[in-house]
Order: sequence, then structure tokens, then C-alpha cells
Amino acid sequence: MTNCFFCQKLASIPTLPSEELVWNFPNSFVLLGKWQFYQGYCIVVAKQHERELNALPSEIRHAYFDEMCLVAKAIEQVFQPLKLNYELLGNQVPHLHWHLFPRYQHDPETLMPVWLRLDRADKNSEEHQRCINSTLTPLQTANLLRNCLEKLGAKKDA
Ligand SMILES: [Zn+2]
Repeated sequence: MTNCFFCQKLASIPTLPSEELVWNFPNSFVLLGKWQFYQGYCIVVAKQHERELNALPSEIRHAYFDEMCLVAKAIEQVFQPLKLNYELLGNQVPHLHWHLFPRYQHDPETLMPVWLRLDRADKNSEEHQRCINSTLTPLQTANLLRNCLEKLGAKKDA
């Protein structure tokens, strides 16, 4: 699917900078999301282009799920959020990808999904800046997650 955003990302894995590509699993790859107010926010993209989870062959679906859970574990261990939000939406890009949003005490909208705020961030430059701000650089965040995934024994694509 050459016009699919995530298929294009998949094709460009060898050239993605290490601050963007956190991990390359056998069945998925992990991108550091830009909204690092939610420190550790990652996107876990399936390598097989499908719109819905049920379209993946069972074995691949389970492996994809396990890879996503390992990323969740790494985010938990590194950043210790109050709660992780797992979102598999695909309304904008219909190629399976999990958004893993860590939620923290300092979040002003703890009861709301992040999308309301991110929608405002798309329209307002100050809110945009607040939502991408973090105490760490993207490379530092990606390195922390990578080190943790290595310790957790995460598999790499050959
Ligand atoms: Zn795709």
C-alpha cells in the first residue's frame, strides 16, 4: 500500500533516526510519538497492513499483541505513569497501530481521552508546544525505552 503513511514508514525503517524508531520487532515497529507531554508516548505499528485486528492471522495477532504489551511494560518501568491508555483507533490512518499514552499526576485532564487536548494542540501553537514539551529530548526518551526493552529480552527483526 504505497499511499499508506505507516506502510511508507515501514519501508523507511533502515533510514529512520534512532530518536524516532524505538524498536523493530518481528511483527511490529515502535515509533516515539511527538506528544511527549505524555512522557514515553509510543505508537506500535503492525508490519502487516490491515485495518482491523481480526484481519490478522491469529498467530501474528497474538505476537503483535505481546510486542505491544512489552512496550507498555517498558514505558511503565521507565516512566512509572499513573495509568497507561491503550488506543487502537485508525480513523485517520487505517493501518493497525496502538497508541500507548502514559497518563500522569500533572495531567490537567485526567478524566478525558488525550485526543481532545491534541485536537486543540493542532489548532493552537502554545498548546502544541505544551503537548510536545518534555524534560527529556526524544533521543533520551527513546534510549531509555530501548535499554529497558533490551533488558526485557525484546525480540528484534532479523
Ligand atoms: Zn499500511
